[in-house]
Amino acid sequence: MPAALFPVFLDLAGRRVLLVGGGAVAHRKALALLESGADVEVGAPALVPELARAAAEGRLVHRAGVFVPEWLDGAWLVIAATDDAAVNATVAHEAEARRIWVNVVDDAPRCTFQVPARVERGPLQVAISTRGEAPMLARWLRETLEVQLDPALGALAAWLGGKREALRERFPDTARRRQVIEALIRGPALDALRAGRVEQAEAAFASALDEQAAPRGRVILVGAGPGDPGLLTLRGLRALNQADVVLHDRLVSAEVLALARRDAERIEVAKEAGTHHTTQQRIHELLIEHARAGKTVVRLKGGDPFVFGRGGEELEALRSKGIAYEVVPGITAAVACGAYAGIPLTHRDHAQSVRFVTAHCRNSIDTLDWAALAEDRQTLAVYMGAQGLDVLREKLVAHGRSPTTPFALIENGSRANQRVVLGTLADLPERAQAERVQSPALLILGKVAALANDLHWFGAEPLATPAAAPHHAPATISSPAPTPAALTLAA
Ligand code: SAH
Repeated sequence: MPAALFPVFLDLAGRRVLLVGGGAVAHRKALALLESGADVEVGAPALVPELARAAAEGRLVHRAGVFVPEWLDGAWLVIAATDDAAVNATVAHEAEARRIWVNVVDDAPRCTFQVPARVERGPLQVAISTRGEAPMLARWLRETLEVQLDPALGALAAWLGGKREALRERFPDTARRRQVIEALIRGPALDALRAGRVEQAEAAFASALDEQAAPRGRVILVGAGPGDPGLLTLRGLRALNQADVVLHDRLVSAEVLALARRDAERIEVAKEAGTHHTTQQRIHELLIEHARAGKTVVRLKGGDPFVFGRGGEELEALRSKGIAYEVVPGITAAVACGAYAGIPLTHRDHAQSVRFVTAHCRNSIDTLDWAALAEDRQTLAVYMGAQGLDVLREKLVAHGRSPTTPFALIENGSRANQRVVLGTLADLPERAQAERVQSPALLILGKVAALANDLHWFGAEPLATPAAAPHHAPATISSPAPTPAALTLAA
């Protein structure tokens, strides 16, 4: 696999560029080069009328004749655009020998630079490359972006360019300056410029400056969802784009983290039980410290921050220090695992209510209302569901829940390695142990769980009890070996 190309934008203004070839392709290339301000020399025995006219008008220089290496003298860049492969090859060879970057039109192997597909909005340019592997794909993406990128972005880019000096003087600190600029980008300036109302854009600029005069750090508590980055909300994505600092749990998937602003500082806090654990107190301190430094802090949590996520405690800590915060909900594991396992959490025939429970937060197993949990016609979604399963079975059966109640254990819900283990309450701990279910796993208990047999659609086939579904031989699906962090199944 060849290495990726290194993208650059060249400043060709006033620099000599040699274009070999005098036909229609050369004409297109000449126009693009002239737009970039290059000193264009076109070498060819004869020119198409458009090129001849440009030469006559003095916009480019015509070197009449067949290519000779001396044409390369003093050139920064060369493009070979003749219809003669041998000439193009000679140009490429001679240029390479002189360390002049060369592009042979439609001949990627001979190029030392490629010209990307591009979308232009004034000074703003998006360049697209597939390293020549799939030009059609690049073209498709360009067309897509053409439609999606607001035409006024060019005006916005130029207008912001005019503000740079003033902004740099007013906000020497980069982080603060970025906040102002982001506020301007998201604010009404774009609409104003699109409508040609420069004075409105200027007013937006003035008020953005006022708002940012005092450093205003804040914390955005964001639910990252269960793992599939497609399940992040648009608001969550926007918060990640604005983040100076991202404090995330281990549960947050790498794919979601990759969406954070590139140069945001990433801090992993609160690792899995047992290993190096950042205390909740320490997390509060970190949030407060960074917000007080004027930063936009994203506190990124798996699922939803307010469902077994201790988000409430973090807000209390921020509130006590007068730090501004926002909350962006996320798709909680129960909802995501239900969806991705084909298990509706409620169903007219089977369950009128659903309870989210965990036996491992502050209120321990003993303080749970087991009589209520054992009630029929409801679904239990048990978080941290790979632990304490034998106690769970014992208590539920003792309080009257039928041992034949179906369950589904969903491991790594919504992720590529999702596994679903099915069975009945009677054999719950044994099934979990046999299939080596590991964290993160969520337990769904109730009649609805059995629907996964028919309704599953994502990832590997559900692992049903061998007797119930002999054609789903569990041995065909490899179980990952337990890691030291694997949760034990004993109570
Ligand atoms: N705030 C989170 C829950 C945190 S508690 C939320 O709203 O989802 C951690 C537990 O959530 C895990 O032990 C597991 O039971 C569950 N969980 C989180 N992500 C999961 C996933 N992708 N698949 C299965 N369970 C998950």
